[in-house]
Amino acid sequence: MSNNSATLEPPIGVFGGTFDPVHLAHLRMALEVWETVGLAEVRLVPCQIPPHRDTPQLSAEQRLALLRAGSEVCPAFRVDTRELERPGPSYMADTLASLRAELPHTPLCLILGMDAFAGLPRWHRWRELAEYAHIIVMERPGSELPVTGELAEWLAPRQVEDVAALRQALNGRVFRLAVTQLDISATQIRALLNERRSIQFLVPEPVWHLIREQGLYGYGEA
Ligand code: ATP
Repeated sequence: MSNNSATLEPPIGVFGGTFDPVHLAHLRMALEVWETVGLAEVRLVPCQIPPHRDTPQLSAEQRLALLRAGSEVCPAFRVDTRELERPGPSYMADTLASLRAELPHTPLCLILGMDAFAGLPRWHRWRELAEYAHIIVMERPGSELPVTGELAEWLAPRQVEDVAALRQALNGRVFRLAVTQLDISATQIRALLNERRSIQFLVPEPVWHLIREQGLYGYGEA
């Protein structure tokens, strides 16, 4: 794969998730990565069938509607529905392969929270990810980079300290980024809704509006 930086386009970010629902930590962190790395855009990629976790509570269509409503105010973001259009489990290796085929001269930056990165060896064809993209690991409260084991060994030759390295190659580098630590999770949001409590200021206002209006996550049920 060509690594001649003179011929490369500005990098784009790829931020996959269940987004069940999208929350302010997702969007704030993706925005900070966009700004710090100088990404052309961040693709928000909702998964259809998450391979590594429980079935989402909402349908793909409902999660997508919330994601669009929450992210459309910011020009940094573009919702990418390729995983929803693909049958079967949503493997990130397939997603990155299809983006690489479409964008042969654009560095791709897979954006992962530290917890997701720590679980990488459980992902399907995980070593292939760096053949298509760089990885940006965002710090997350309660998670640390591994110091021993196969992931630590895999990481060592790939980790870079200078963000500019992400513009100089199409793939293969891992960059750790300190982002504003927001201890918000979709799990916490679903639990609050389950108790019929407010999630205002944890999610974008249009997301909260849609959840109330449509009684999603059981909110509003007697
Ligand atoms: P859940 O609580 O249902 O597991 P989540 O809040 O972790 O959901 P996902 O859609 O599963 O959200 O996460 C998508 C990506 O966002 C993952 O890479 C995850 O590590 C990252 N992420 C989510 N919330 C945070 C957070 N508060 N800080 C850092 N990274 C986060």
